[in-house]
Amino acid sequence: MSTSYQHWRVEPGENYTTVYFDMADSQVNVFNQATMRELSLVLKHVTAQPKLKAVVFRSAKAKGFIAGADITAFSQISTVNDAVADVREGQQIFEQLAAIPVPTIAVMHDFALGGGLEFALACDYRITDDDPRTRLGFLETRVGIHPGWGGTTRLPKLIGGLAALMLMLSGRTLHGGAAKAMGLVDYAIPKCDVDRAIAYLLTALPPAHKPSIWQRWLGFAPLRPIVAGLLRRRVAAKIKDKDYPAPFALLNLWQRYGGYGEVATIAEANSVAKLLVTPTAKSLARVFLLRERLRELGKTESGVKHVHVVGAGTMGGDIAAWCALHHMKVTLEDADSAQLGRSMARAVVLFQRKCKQKHRVQAARDNLIMDPKGYGRAHADLIIEAIVEDKSAKQALWQALVQTAKPDAILATNTSSISLTELSEGWANPARLIGLHFFNPVERMPLVEVVETSSTAPELAARAFAFVKSIDKLPLPVANEPGFLVNRILSAYMLAAVGLHAQGYSYAQIDGAALAFGMAMGPIELADTVGLDICLAAAKTLVEKLSLPMPTVLAEKVKAGELGRKTGKGFYTYIKGQRREKIAIPASPDARLVEALMVPLKAEASAALADGVVSDADLVDAGMIFGAGYPPFRGGPLYVAVTG
Ligand code: NAD
Repeated sequence: MSTSYQHWRVEPGENYTTVYFDMADSQVNVFNQATMRELSLVLKHVTAQPKLKAVVFRSAKAKGFIAGADITAFSQISTVNDAVADVREGQQIFEQLAAIPVPTIAVMHDFALGGGLEFALACDYRITDDDPRTRLGFLETRVGIHPGWGGTTRLPKLIGGLAALMLMLSGRTLHGGAAKAMGLVDYAIPKCDVDRAIAYLLTALPPAHKPSIWQRWLGFAPLRPIVAGLLRRRVAAKIKDKDYPAPFALLNLWQRYGGYGEVATIAEANSVAKLLVTPTAKSLARVFLLRERLRELGKTESGVKHVHVVGAGTMGGDIAAWCALHHMKVTLEDADSAQLGRSMARAVVLFQRKCKQKHRVQAARDNLIMDPKGYGRAHADLIIEAIVEDKSAKQALWQALVQTAKPDAILATNTSSISLTELSEGWANPARLIGLHFFNPVERMPLVEVVETSSTAPELAARAFAFVKSIDKLPLPVANEPGFLVNRILSAYMLAAVGLHAQGYSYAQIDGAALAFGMAMGPIELADTVGLDICLAAAKTLVEKLSLPMPTVLAEKVKAGELGRKTGKGFYTYIKGQRREKIAIPASPDARLVEALMVPLKAEASAALADGVVSDADLVDAGMIFGAGYPPFRGGPLYVAVTG
């Protein structure tokens, strides 16, 4: 007879007992205090069953096995002692699971992440489905911690120390096939074969997977410092210990204990507890939740299958390629057909980098159709205009586009600075125009600002959000205000940087200070990357809003045709897109210089919020982190302003 708990259900069967995880009032299973404590009771109940032969753990949810620990609870942990107690409790519950005296199997589907995968590691066997979209992995380093419920000890034993570290440090996820190849799961099979796999495992009881000889070798105590040292150097090339301590803590842990014995388990708890109370973990947990908030906005259907992009320059070409990579049919139009050729060549490089298998590269290529005559205009579900930032050129193009587009097509502009109301002047229904403002480089920047005017229909905005989510970007709702959100704030920052140059600082010094603060790119190089013509156009529309003077150098450079990276010369010089001048990141940057860059940025962030460009401060922070490379470990410009 089955026994139901609030979050778990136990169903005894002839050959094995099945335990279902079905978290109440939630679409996905996560571990929090309630589900964990109940799990402990469930495990006691199951273990006490007479004639227990085996236990199979499954999720009763349509979507996913277990998403991991509840990140919203991170903010409630305030002291290391509390954190140690919490983590130790979790470890002990998973030890209870590992100690079940009969074979245990975790049957996963869709995803098993973080603590969810640690749960599976505490079972004897693991089965997952073979869907290429399945995601198995440890995302902890993305939220400023490392696995803490036995993951750092069980994973090295299963797949080897080096492989385990690579998986945990990267925070990347594996599909079933890759997880099987690594030894993380015993089977990656179609869902219909799961019962047979369970029957086989319970009859044959194969020995647990063992890491390869060389993986075991690298885990020996004398070699661990060398392996950890190499990995530490690789990590340190990308991030700093003081900003992102978790990967370094994970390496120290493995170097010292190699995942062996009770002492390693206790050290794991102490290490993760210390990380949990760091400002970095709090900020990253917040960033994680902000990302989820933006993704949630796109949960309806967009109805977009065919995208027509007009303008195949820096942005249009890359937007088209990105959409094609994400299974959209894309037609790409440009007045200059040579530009179409260049875009296709760049798109193929992107496809080859992003798709491992040849057939996927080919599928993406097939999705992208060069359309110099603009035949796609009349058939597309979404038209994205990305031609030069020139109001009259855009207005003229839109007059034509709006005549030919399907009546229910979403009409979107990628303008950085021109008001949507000006672009749709004279239309029968101006509310049809929406802004889809992508960021440069499209491949790397996750944000897309969705610009709404006061008359934008909510259904249209909802479809636009859903489209953005469907191409794996984050939609941010912004008002049709000059510069929208991110460019407005960035303009203040870039103008401040150019002004500092006039005061005698070199470009490399200014960028170095911003990089030391943690920005993804310095303001000077950012201006070159965006294009100085685009910056100038944006600055002109913003000049009344911003309190900073407009530097003459910008207009001079544009007049001289020095537009930045795209022309090989701007503030810096570029050869094949690579900057020639070196930028050194100072270990202790000039505090006044950092302040002179960041104060205007934060002031503009507050002003944009006050003007209602976005609805709350969290969205300002989300915009700057996902759209401008503001350092995630700082939580966002307004978050810092609030917490001091
Ligand atoms: P770009 O100069 O690189 O490309 C513009 C392209 O449009 C050119 O290939 C040109 O041949 C084509 N074009 C011009 N008029 C046309 C017409 N009437 N019909 C068809 N094609 C035409 O410009 P870009 O940097 O890609 O910027 C495009 C748009 O994206 C602008 O509105 C800009 O503000 C916006 N944007 C730029 C960035 C950036 O970082 N560069 C970032 C976000 C948004």
